[in-house]
Amino acid sequence: MSAGRYAPSPSGDLHVGNLRTALLAWLFARSSGRDLLLRYEDLDASRTVAGSAERQRADLEALGVTFNGEVVFQSQRKHLYDDAVATLSAQGLVYECYCTRREIQDAPRAPHAPPGAYPGTCRGLSEQERKRRRTERPGALRLKAVREQASAHDRLRGTIAAPVDDFVLVRNDGAAAYNLAVVVDDYLTGVDQVVRADDLADSAPRQQHLRGLLYGEAAAASVEYAHVPLVVNQAGQRLAKRDGAVTLAALGEHGIRPEAVRDSLLRSLNLPQGPLQDALDAFDPRNLPRGPWVWQSPHS
Ligand code: GLU
Repeated sequence: MSAGRYAPSPSGDLHVGNLRTALLAWLFARSSGRDLLLRYEDLDASRTVAGSAERQRADLEALGVTFNGEVVFQSQRKHLYDDAVATLSAQGLVYECYCTRREIQDAPRAPHAPPGAYPGTCRGLSEQERKRRRTERPGALRLKAVREQASAHDRLRGTIAAPVDDFVLVRNDGAAAYNLAVVVDDYLTGVDQVVRADDLADSAPRQQHLRGLLYGEAAAASVEYAHVPLVVNQAGQRLAKRDGAVTLAALGEHGIRPEAVRDSLLRSLNLPQGPLQDALDAFDPRNLPRGPWVWQSPHS
């Protein structure tokens, strides 16, 4: 199977930036003969809002963004993430880390290390030292990255290359971390096309590295990415709920129907307005605008 996916966090209604990315995921998948899967990234229970998964799906469908197959909820897949960690552990590629954010920030690091990269403090701890640290705080699990750099192929941006550090696989509360869950789910559900907002472009090389370690280099090479430009507010910042009427429900209160929102998103992509099928017939990734789109809120 060959599939794309849209993977929102069910933490509230989708805003027009999320909806535009979903529309693009649909266009990329359908225009390349792929299914489009829906996956809820609900690993952080404290951010999950009851009823929001259903509302998100209804909003997507109101625009014509339809999905195939079973809907995946990451909160129900802990056993699969644990299996993946066991596979990596068996290869000696996992270690416990007890560092706080502060300690990571303040640790001495090599002069060429990228900002924010984990400096490797806990990589070489002795068993005795680990025992002592465990009594202070529970450990997170980190990947022992075997490369310093990895790359991903992006339809819009060309090759994305970025440093790979020893990133977190399992948080210290036992929940799978974002990169691990994405890589396991994408692979196990047959995803070989990842379309998402371009603020996540830097995670693609890390995810490719992990996919290669878990499932082989051919599985990693088979994925294509498209990191699509963000929607921003008048000040040029990533769109957020505080930017006014940015969800279908809020726009509806201004008398703006889902079809009108769909049409304005399509216009912003240089695509014909109307049912998505017409946009699909005209879709060519080469003609997509490459910069962020500035959202103009309707007057109240
Ligand atoms: N859940 C992420 C988001 O809502 C998307 C993650 C991904 O597409 O890999 O921004």
